[in-house]
Amino acid sequence: MKTEIQKPNRKTYKLAAKLIGDGQVVAFPTETVYGLGASALNRDAVKKIFEAKGRPQDNPLIVHLAKKKDIKKYVKNMSKTQKILVKTFMPGPISIIFDKNDKICSEVCAGGNTVAIRIPESKVARKFIAYTKCPICAPSANTSKRPSPTIAQHVFDDMNTKIPLIIDGGATDIGIESTVVRCDGNNVYILRPGKISKEMIAKKCNLVAIDKIDTSKIPQSPGTKYTHYKPACDMIIVKTDVINNINKLYQNAINENKKPIIFCKQQDQKYFADKNTIVLGKDSEQASTNLFGYLRQYENNDLIIAEYFDNGEMVEALFNRMIKSASGNIV
Ligand code: AMP
Ligand code: MG
Repeated sequence: MKTEIQKPNRKTYKLAAKLIGDGQVVAFPTETVYGLGASALNRDAVKKIFEAKGRPQDNPLIVHLAKKKDIKKYVKNMSKTQKILVKTFMPGPISIIFDKNDKICSEVCAGGNTVAIRIPESKVARKFIAYTKCPICAPSANTSKRPSPTIAQHVFDDMNTKIPLIIDGGATDIGIESTVVRCDGNNVYILRPGKISKEMIAKKCNLVAIDKIDTSKIPQSPGTKYTHYKPACDMIIVKTDVINNINKLYQNAINENKKPIIFCKQQDQKYFADKNTIVLGKDSEQASTNLFGYLRQYENNDLIIAEYFDNGEMVEALFNRMIKSASGNIV
């Protein structure tokens, strides 16, 4: 299959809608990362997503909608807490879990009775969904376990010959995936951290937000637990005695004839002036935007030594992705 990359315009949206209607898979940009979309109403189309990614069938997909008023078509009920979250944060980088009705096919939800719903802020994403007139289920558009794609070229690198179309909306803004939440009474459980943080939920909605990273979705055997966004080379995060430890790890790698690279804070680059260094950003927001792209770009080194980011509003979300990329390696 030939994989086309097309800029978003009327012709592209029409083609995308035709492909989705025919049960095909189309990659599209959102404000978080690129998604791999299919109609959530078409079992065979949904199966193609899992095949293209090599994704385990027990990992559910998020259903993307263009408008808030469409949510009620696919869910059984909406609690007061869910209504508040929808009103406050949608469209935006949050996926809210609802009890599903029978319209969304079971393959989307890994056989469970809940569905995660997201309304992207990205205009291109919403236009694409609106043209298809379908609920679009989508995971990130990378091969399973690879860093998520933040530009169309990353999608092409992983999906060439596997899907017919990639809509190229340029680089994504946020760079890491949506916050996934489940509600219980006034409590909001964070299953996956993202740009919308616990603190934002508590402050803006007067709700109780609690961390509850869903470990049941992560394979339990040692060593495989954190392989999610792994680059081709080794990676280690440095959180303690940062400058000394980074310099030590770098020198050790050089002594072993390895090629290391340092991902650091802009403010700290001066401490590594004579070394192979790339600035990930000045704070956790900028670092999130750059992380996945840089993991792909610099994985031809032997070791990525990444500085921990303790500043900005995405500290938790960024660390969640970094620790998985590094397979849990941290000093
Ligand atoms: P991704 O494939 O990277 O876009 O991630 C989608 C993630 O959303 C999954 O790995 C789950 O963690 C989460 N998710 C989607 N649907 C559900 C659901 N019904 N219940 C719990 N988590 C969900
Ligand atoms: Mg993913």
